[in-house]
Amino acid sequence: MSRYPFEYDPSRPFIEQAGEWIGDVFYDVLPEAGFEIRDEQIYMAYQLERAFADKAPIFAEAGVGTGKTLVYLLYSFCYARYTRKPAVIACADESLIEQLVKPEGDIAKLARHLGLEIDARLAKSPDQYLCLKKLDQAQNIQDDSLPLAELYGTIPDFVHAHAALQEFHPYGDRRDYPDMTDEQWSRVNWDSFQDCFACDMRHRCGQTLSRDHYRKAADLIICSHDYYMEHVWTYEGRKREGQLPLLPEHCAVVFDEGHLLEGAAMKALGYRMKHTVFEELISRLLQNEIRETLAVLVDEAIMQSERMFAAIRRQSRKVPGSDRMSIELNPALLREVHQLRSVISAIEEELVFEGELYTIDSYQLRIVEEHLEMMGIALRLFEESGALICWAAEEKDGLTLSVMPRNVKQVLEERVFSQRMPVIFSSATMSVGKSFAFMADSLGIKDYLSFSVDSPYDYETRMKAYLPEPLQGDFEGKIKLALRLIRHTEGRALVLLRTQEELRRFKAAAAALPELAEYRLLFEGDREISHLISDFQNDEHSILAAVRLWEGLDIPGPSLSNVIIWSLPYPPNDPVFAAKRSEAADPFEEVDLPYMLLRLKQGIGRLIRSSSDEGIVMVMADPEQRPVHDFIGSVLPKGVELNKLEENTVL
Ligand code: SF4
Repeated sequence: MSRYPFEYDPSRPFIEQAGEWIGDVFYDVLPEAGFEIRDEQIYMAYQLERAFADKAPIFAEAGVGTGKTLVYLLYSFCYARYTRKPAVIACADESLIEQLVKPEGDIAKLARHLGLEIDARLAKSPDQYLCLKKLDQAQNIQDDSLPLAELYGTIPDFVHAHAALQEFHPYGDRRDYPDMTDEQWSRVNWDSFQDCFACDMRHRCGQTLSRDHYRKAADLIICSHDYYMEHVWTYEGRKREGQLPLLPEHCAVVFDEGHLLEGAAMKALGYRMKHTVFEELISRLLQNEIRETLAVLVDEAIMQSERMFAAIRRQSRKVPGSDRMSIELNPALLREVHQLRSVISAIEEELVFEGELYTIDSYQLRIVEEHLEMMGIALRLFEESGALICWAAEEKDGLTLSVMPRNVKQVLEERVFSQRMPVIFSSATMSVGKSFAFMADSLGIKDYLSFSVDSPYDYETRMKAYLPEPLQGDFEGKIKLALRLIRHTEGRALVLLRTQEELRRFKAAAAALPELAEYRLLFEGDREISHLISDFQNDEHSILAAVRLWEGLDIPGPSLSNVIIWSLPYPPNDPVFAAKRSEAADPFEEVDLPYMLLRLKQGIGRLIRSSSDEGIVMVMADPEQRPVHDFIGSVLPKGVELNKLEENTVL
């Protein structure tokens, strides 16, 4: 295939010509291949042409069924060819990135119908890969609950055979182990406490090899918001250390489900600390011929870290429905934090002398210095706690302290939006009262383009929405209602739950119900997520229960004919939302309600994914959450009424 899918005339602007070709694709080529002509899609194509021509951010709000993905894929592809740099497509969640490249996905469709060869590669987060070090640890403690033989069987020969001229390739992808549960996977995958820089396996590790692979993508790199934000945040540091940035230079970025970007940015800009990791790292210094003063400081730092984490544990409080514990700051805790910070800065000064004496291997020295610098920043943030959100979480090997900034817009403004690059925010729901100001402000975007187009689907006749009457907050009552609807649609149901705790309870109750025995029940966490989704799609009468699939799940056809909203998706009462609430004049109106409505709208949006889809949605709410009728009605698609579901209602 030649470089461009159309005859390029260098005397005319490239984007204008790309726009003409994309217009032909939507008016002629795709309709000839059996696709509907959609006015909304053509309108969107003209709008995106402006963003690419002006290299500007654009909020592209387009309802379900407008075919927005095809539009941004075509522009991204053409622009990548023109600039000879890939475009990045960032999806909301790691579980969604496979959907774009699946055989029936949009990239394959374009390639097939337009005769394009699209080089699209996945940049998965490192936690989607096996960590050889953790695998060895699991084997050493003879963890029989893991399929160790199967895991070792998937490791290529080149990992341990040091022969010349070997070809390396990525391996150890979460997708390759569909039957492992998420809990099992968490014991062998990469996690943020692995020190890959210092790892002797790093040149043969599937996780690092995957980076070499996707970096060479010619057209598209697909990743999650989290990964893109991690790239932004680590860009300077990696360059300083002589490492490549996580993502290569790229020509444009599309944030699919763009309304979720702020959360990803906050997460990526945060720090995590753990005593065991700090101790392991700092103890490495003792293996060198270091001076007595430094050795004493290292011992002091280890003891102080222990004291600080003990103080954090004392001040941590469980938050119902969340794994994050809130930390009540008090003078005693802040004193411990300050003390550790002082010891760390004393060690940093000593390391400058050691560096001049060449007593420590320079590579190891740099790693320790980088970690200490990171801890120093995190502890300073912690002390100046007005600017950050912090929480503790109990993990198998000890307590983890996480800190994240409250405000991310300055970093985003400097590192993303000032780049003179097309940045596309795509979502069905981004504006508040048709204005994008709220989103633009939270992300630090000053100048932007925007547009909104409604869904072309006939929701009025295709969707029925129900609210139980009386409202049902009791678990047994909810199960009964769900069962009634599941029977009505003969399975084919997606049950959306608010928390992992709800999912666990639902799973236990459903397993004990003989009435559900005839259906195949699928639960998030039991298998690798893309296999789970594909099982649900292909096994028409199955039922899928999930916490993470309120957004992005795209299952057209009868397999998804029934969406059961188990409870209203209010945000958790965790430290992140507590911080947001503390800044709001009316926390319910400004934080909880908009979050809940946006998520509810997204959840309801899973039902109708093609013009021939039809089905029902039931929203369950606790009686004390009244008045809910108007709220729920406000997020239903145009023309859909909220019906009462009473004992004698005929479905
Ligand atoms: S490079 Fe990182 S992920 Fe790979 S084996 Fe080493 S520590 Fe684990």
